[in-house]
Amino acid sequence: MIMKYEIVIGLETHVELSTESKIFCSCGGHSAANEPNDCVCPACCGMPGMLPVMNKRVVELAVTAGLMLNCNINRYTTFDKKNYYYPDLPCAYQITQLNHPICTDGCVTLKTSEGARDIRIKQIHMEEDAGKLVHGGNSSFVDFNRTSVPLIEIVTQPDFRSAEEVLTYLNKLKSMFRSGGISECEEGAMRCDVNISVRPEGSEEFGVRTEIKNMSSFEAIDKAIRYEAQRHMDALEFETEELVQETRRFDDVSGKTFAMRNKETEADYRYFPDANLMPIIIDDEWLEKIKAAKPAAVDEKAEMYREAGISDKEIDVLISNNKISKLLDDTVATGISAKDAAAWILTDCAGILRKDGKSFNDLAVTADKLSAIIKAVESGDINRNAGKKVLIAVVESDVDPVAYIKENGLDKKFDSSAIDGVIDTVIANNPQAIEDFKNGKTKAAQALFGACMRELKGAGDPAVIKELLDKKLAQQ
Ligand code: ADP
Ligand code: MG
Ligand code: ZN
Repeated sequence: MIMKYEIVIGLETHVELSTESKIFCSCGGHSAANEPNDCVCPACCGMPGMLPVMNKRVVELAVTAGLMLNCNINRYTTFDKKNYYYPDLPCAYQITQLNHPICTDGCVTLKTSEGARDIRIKQIHMEEDAGKLVHGGNSSFVDFNRTSVPLIEIVTQPDFRSAEEVLTYLNKLKSMFRSGGISECEEGAMRCDVNISVRPEGSEEFGVRTEIKNMSSFEAIDKAIRYEAQRHMDALEFETEELVQETRRFDDVSGKTFAMRNKETEADYRYFPDANLMPIIIDDEWLEKIKAAKPAAVDEKAEMYREAGISDKEIDVLISNNKISKLLDDTVATGISAKDAAAWILTDCAGILRKDGKSFNDLAVTADKLSAIIKAVESGDINRNAGKKVLIAVVESDVDPVAYIKENGLDKKFDSSAIDGVIDTVIANNPQAIEDFKNGKTKAAQALFGACMRELKGAGDPAVIKELLDKKLAQQ
């Protein structure tokens, strides 16, 4: 490639809110439905004459999201009708916000491999979701359970410069919204339209953009961005095709994007104010109440842990106990993954302490010792069971893990010849069990396996031992 290009991305992210009811009627909210159409009423089905009634909680959650994203909260906010015809939209219009969205001009800071990056939030608006079409056999069905489920749409400025930044942003939104009770953000409850263009590096002008619609898997978003950016760059560099502003669809199987339709303009939707809904005024008192109820800003640390794949329950423990979170951080600093270190501390150490009637405050294990045990297990020197044994010795008697492993021969009997020998001895010493096994008593094999494990004192990989034992038993 002769020219260097810069990728430019803006995101529109739809998030289903965790409310108990829908946005304009009293049907159950996002996770209430079980069977198709068991969560619908005349209002959300678009029966003639039915009127929307605003769900106050939606406003509160939208404002909370806006506060988390450092937005201006607009005290005067209104709804508009966006008209289009599609079978999953019973009214043939969607109630959304065009003219006076609830939040504007926010900003979120991302930690990326290239340092801190600020992404500007253009606006957050409230709207209702559409239903779902289900296709089967020769028929198509429509499920209105999702119709009128409340959404917020978060629109960014075109500030992302890579797929990595986009994923960092989405993960950040996800952990913020989860901890803020705004949304559980399960797969499908967070959907993105990805707007993308490229331009020669150094250029101030934006290139022609395309929009990839309705993506919910982060993995697919990553792939789609890479594919689409390359397509744009090829188009500019080699004039393979002419880029047009259009809406595209990502196909997961081929890993490619395909044109769906030319981009609609605002005029196509014939937006107009929804006269059935009064403007909403957010006064000082209400805003203060929402601010007071907002959970403390997600700790950066909690977010890091979440990004490392540690569960919410474990994060709660880590955040509420400095000593334990320091042990975790120090262990991670020795090259252990946060997720593995968390499992050893919060499951294994906790288990040993509990058994001894102690609490985390009694835990005297150092990060170095813990790290030595985890490394011995991860490198395959000892198996996980042996690792637990070492941990018990460290927790209870503060032994040196490496010396302990050597002294107790936990790593020696690891080769299959040693295991072979033990199995042979066990078979020779248990003629009755062998007889039972031959007579079809499968339990006998279980007992022999247990005897082997005892003999090996916890060394060796149980799966390998079982396989070798089964082989020998089959030859009896
Ligand atoms: P529209 O009204 O056509 O939907 P918006 O101005 O609302 O356009 O922008 C929609 C999204 O597209 C925003 O997230 C914005 O950041 C992004 N966007 C706009 N122009 C570009 C561009 N040239 N390249 C990438 N993204 C863009
Ligand atoms: Mg838009
Ligand atoms: Zn309803």
